[in-house]
This record gives sequence, C-alpha cells and structure tokens, in this order.
Amino acid sequence: EANKRNILITGGCGFIGSHVVRLFVTKYPHYNIYNLDALTYAGNPANLEDIEQMSNYKLLVADIRNAEVLEQLFSEYNFDSVIHLAAESHVDRSITDPLAFVTTNVVGTVNLLHTAKKHWGTDFTNKLFYHISTDEVYGTLGESGFFTEETAYDPNSPYSASKASSDHFVRAYGETYKMPYVISNCSNNYGPNQFPEKLIPLFIQNCLDKKSLPVYGDGNYTRDWLYVIDHAIAIDTIFHKGKISETYNIGGFNEWKNIDLVRLLCKQVDQKLGNPEGTSEKLITFVTDRPGHDFRYAIDASKINAELGWKPSVTFEEGLSKTIDWYLSNRLWLEQVKSK
Ligand code: NAD
Repeated sequence: EANKRNILITGGCGFIGSHVVRLFVTKYPHYNIYNLDALTYAGNPANLEDIEQMSNYKLLVADIRNAEVLEQLFSEYNFDSVIHLAAESHVDRSITDPLAFVTTNVVGTVNLLHTAKKHWGTDFTNKLFYHISTDEVYGTLGESGFFTEETAYDPNSPYSASKASSDHFVRAYGETYKMPYVISNCSNNYGPNQFPEKLIPLFIQNCLDKKSLPVYGDGNYTRDWLYVIDHAIAIDTIFHKGKISETYNIGGFNEWKNIDLVRLLCKQVDQKLGNPEGTSEKLITFVTDRPGHDFRYAIDASKINAELGWKPSVTFEEGLSKTIDWYLSNRLWLEQVKSK
C-alpha cells in the first residue's frame, strides 16, 4: 500500500505527545504508530487509555538516551518517519538540573538522528525527521515585535538552550547528510493532560485546594497561548504538507499577561464551582521572579497560516473553559500524577 507508513512518535505519553498520538492513530488507521516513551515523571500511559487497544498503535517503553535500544527498535519496526517530542520540558527544573536537559534534549535527539541516518542510509525517499520545538529558542521580546522564522536564536534558560541546540543538530543533519527534516517552534500550550507543575493546571488545582496562586514578579510577563489540540492539528498539517528543510512557527495569535490570564482563570473556575465572585482571585500572591525570566514571547504564525492554511480552532476563552472542565472531571488523574 503506497501510503502505508511506520511512524515513530517520541514522548507520546506526555502532554502534547498524547494528543498527537491520538490524532494520528484515529485519523490514519492505515499508519502504524509507535509511541516511544521512557515514562519519566511527565509520561503517563493513562493519557492514551482510550486508544491503547487499537491495532495500529504500539507503546515502546524506551529511553532516547540509549542509542543501542534505538538501533534495535529501528531494525525491528522499520520506522520511515520520526515525530520527535520526547524532552525534559519544564523551565524551572532546567534551572536546578541543567544536565538532565542536555542528556535527553541534546544527546537524545542526536541519538535519534544518528540512528535514523544509519538505518535509512542515503536513500531518503519517503523519509522524514520532524522535530517539535519551542518559541523559547528565540529569547525574549520587549513590548512590541514578534518572533518570525527568521528571528535569530537567543536562548536564555538551560531548557531553551537545550532545545535550541537540538534544533541546530536537526538542521545540521539536513545540511550535512541531506536528511529530510522539518522543525516547528510553538508557543505555550494548555489543555487536558498537562502535568500540574505548569501554570494553568497548577492554578486550577490550587483553586480547588484553596492554595495560593504564585505569580512570578509583577505578573506582567506575556505569553502566547495555544490549545494543545490545535497544536496537534498543526503538527499533522506540517507532517503531511510542510516543505522539507523548513521551519514553521506555531502560535495562537493570543497574547496574555500572566496576571490577566490568572484573573480570567479564577473567574471561570468560580463560575463553574458556583463560588461567590472573587473567591479564587484572593488566592493570588506575587512571588520572587524566576532567574533569567523572559519578559515576552509572541509568535508571528503567518507563514503556517498562509502557506498551509492552519489556524487555531478555538478562542482562548473556549479552550480555557474546556481545560477547566477536563480537570474538574478528572480529579483522579490529577491525584494519580501528583502521587507519582
Ligand atoms: P511533557 O514533559 O509533558 O512530556 C515529555 C514526554 O517525553 C514524557 O512522556 C516523558 O516521559 C518523555 N521523555 C522524557 N525524557 C525522555 C527520554 N529520555 N526518553 C524517552 N522519553 C522521554 O512535555 P510536553 O509539554 O508534552 O512537550 C513535548 C514537546 O513539545 C517537547 O519537546 C517540548 O519542548 C515541546 N514544546 C512544548 C510546549 C509546551 O507548552 N508544553 C510548547 C512548545 C514546544
């Protein structure tokens, strides 16, 4: 069958990966989807409980830091494409343990590139290495301006430095060995299945527990937010229609100052729980800034919009409301990941 594929998706038990795996497994029954994940604290097979029995899906518990295991898996399953999401992803953790970010995000990515190259040889027909990255590689913006695909890399945190490095290695494999690749750099994601160390799920949880909502600095940090399912749809679009050797920025056209976002979240949570107005907002506390904190990220997503016709499907208010509903009806999931 001409369009049959063996696709390796890494990090599929994590937040974004789980939505990408679900989309590919359900939308493309003729593709074999292999989900390689080391099941770190952030990886949770329960994120894919609803599809784990499907015949075109297989979980491979393995670590991208281990090149030998990657070799065996490439030989056994003949992957023709890689969608690489496995990574250490939390900026605060990168500040306390940078080396873990180097070994997984940099060395792990090079292991994957190296193994794919070795296995594919020099005939790259119908082969693709797709690297999922972040807008944080571009550093920080002032009050105005946007990151475009031409913006020079200028990472500030150990996390963004590790992602910038892995992007460079992917490009280098393209330039040096002609390996077909695409890279996409996306803004902050939110939605179901996000580990409750990240802002939105942490704050929903803290509203439920009546715990403080720690906002960094003066709350004026600005981020662009994208609903995770819209990111998964963008990844599907780029995988199938993206041009080889190109980078695509993915964003929500949706900038929020942290403090305004937290106020909106409090308002929606209070409405859903039937709390008196202002209940959750009282939990906001301002805490000492994160070192090296980037002031503002904003994505110019006009390239993917114009060339591939992708745009977000939900507004932030809708996406946030869906996200809060999901956490309210999945409290067991929250308890389980926290205890892990
Ligand atoms: P996550 O932390 O929720 O999930 C990461 C997954 O990778 C987990 O399932 C984990 O078990 C797995 N993993 C970690 N180390 C591994 C290793 N050594 N070998 C194999 N698997 C390993 O992360 P996420 O938020 O879903 O992010 C996924 C990707 O998207 C990352 O590459 C991240 O840099 C990128 N990204 C994230 C965002 C965001 O807002 N979350 C935005 C842009 C880009």
